[in-house]
Amino acid sequence: MPLRIQQDVKEIEGVLNEILNTLRPPVGRCRLLSSGFNPGHALNITEDISGHKECLACGNCVDICPILVREPSRREKTEQRTSMALESIVGEDCDLCDACILACPQVDTTIKNYVVNHRMIEVMSRLEKRIGDEDEPDLDLFLEEALSQA
Ligand code: SF4
Ligand code: SF4
Repeated sequence: MPLRIQQDVKEIEGVLNEILNTLRPPVGRCRLLSSGFNPGHALNITEDISGHKECLACGNCVDICPILVREPSRREKTEQRTSMALESIVGEDCDLCDACILACPQVDTTIKNYVVNHRMIEVMSRLEKRIGDEDEPDLDLFLEEALSQA
């Protein structure tokens, strides 16, 4: 797990907002903005990779992405479970929901807290506006299915 200790988000706020406002999966760039693999990480790796910011290919971001839940055929285009795969199969269709950031073990807690505390209301309100939009039939269908399984 990257830094558990909170840093001053103001140092990265400008570039972070640019990432969060760009219509592309944000997780890879948030990972690079983070502090890298930490000795306290729970993964059992004997090699010392402290500070490395590489994608661990854990697939968390791919699994959580709502676009791929709604359109599983996209996911079938690749066996890879990395941020690079997410970039290629989601690209500019990204919902900017920020779920991939929260699911990534390589993204700093400071960034995750910023997303939760400063971005979630905007994200929820944007998604809510799209519910009922005739151009977004998949979103309506997804919600109906989720409610029927509740
Ligand atoms: S839709 Fe959400 S989870 Fe999927 S890539 Fe975009 S921000 Fe990440
Ligand atoms: S969630 Fe896993 S697969 Fe996705 S960017 Fe982070 S480390 Fe890579």
